Amino acid sequence: MSEALRIGILDGDDIGLEIVPASVQVARAAAEIHGVKIDWKPLPIGARALETHGHTLPPETMDTLKTLDGWILGPIGHRAYPKGPNAINPHPILRKQFNLFANVRPTRSYPDIGCLHDDVDLVIVRENNEGFQPDRNMVMGSGEFRPTDEVTLSVRVITRAGSRRVAKAAFELARQRRKHLTYIHKDTVFKLSCGMFVEECKKLAAEYPDVRVDDVIVDTFAMRLVRDPQSFDVVVTTNMFGDILSDEAAGLVGGLGMAPGLCIGDGDVAMAQATHGSAPDIAGKGIANPYAMIESTRMMFEWLGHSRNVPGAVKMAHSMAAATTAALADANARTGDIRGKGNTASFTQAIVRNLRA
Ligand code: ATP
Ligand code: MG
Repeated sequence: MSEALRIGILDGDDIGLEIVPASVQVARAAAEIHGVKIDWKPLPIGARALETHGHTLPPETMDTLKTLDGWILGPIGHRAYPKGPNAINPHPILRKQFNLFANVRPTRSYPDIGCLHDDVDLVIVRENNEGFQPDRNMVMGSGEFRPTDEVTLSVRVITRAGSRRVAKAAFELARQRRKHLTYIHKDTVFKLSCGMFVEECKKLAAEYPDVRVDDVIVDTFAMRLVRDPQSFDVVVTTNMFGDILSDEAAGLVGGLGMAPGLCIGDGDVAMAQATHGSAPDIAGKGIANPYAMIESTRMMFEWLGHSRNVPGAVKMAHSMAAATTAALADANARTGDIRGKGNTASFTQAIVRNLRA
């Protein structure tokens, strides 16, 4: 492939306006060094799009996304949006529309930044489009019901196809790593829903005899993740368990600023999306940790490099990783949340400097 990669830039809200430009700055520098051609497309989204385009996910943004290879999606401060049909949270729509059913969330330790263990290296693959998340369950409308003022019901959707495809993505990832997959569930209680997820994981295990497979109940996993995270490589689970456990995993290695993510499906687009939210409490101060967003961006280029055979893209991703690791080791550069004396700009500049060195 010789044409330029077409990559969207969707800043999002709050700290998104700081960490997304930081990620683009790093990726631009790395792309230049490795001769990767990128056609960048800034697109309106979130609170600013509501002002300029009358919608938090304007139709023109949606239309352009359909023509792209991938995009960087900043965090969305949807809880602060005014009520109304034009002020929606774009995340679930994007994940559904582009069938991005697997949210790949790595956790790894780096020295001196406040990790609880110095040897964590695991990936949680969170199912992205089913489960309890009310507005994602298009099958069931809102997914929540209040038949009387005293009673509320929540519906959790688990499908065979949905379980199978996310488990398959996790098995494939395990094959590229330490060939160990753990599936997390609570089929002791949710015999039908978690039970179906487990059945599909077991069926796939037979197709991946080279991958060692473990079965762990979610509460036990929550405990073991704190005590012996070293015993996990790739972990796959349903939506809400994955949401909670990936924040717990981030807590092991310095907090939410260290929690990247890549949303993928069986198509050929990828969406770089950090695990954390828009952190309105620290927005506009220039102190947000850009690591999660930069690393999510890096993962996207690595994925596109492999899946589309883009010359230089995998090398570009590898140099981004090395430059970021070196910047993390520099206490003057890295941000305060990870025991640094620097800020968003100093961290980003250190990565760019390391890339060019
Ligand atoms: P969401 O519902 O969107 O997941 P949340 O309530 O989980 O949002 P976040 O915005 O993810 O909340 O973050 C919680 C807190 O963690 C923030 O208020 C902020 O203090 C801290 N935090 C999150 N991301 C970062 C970051 N990149 N750098 C530094 N601190 C961060
Ligand atoms: Mg959260």
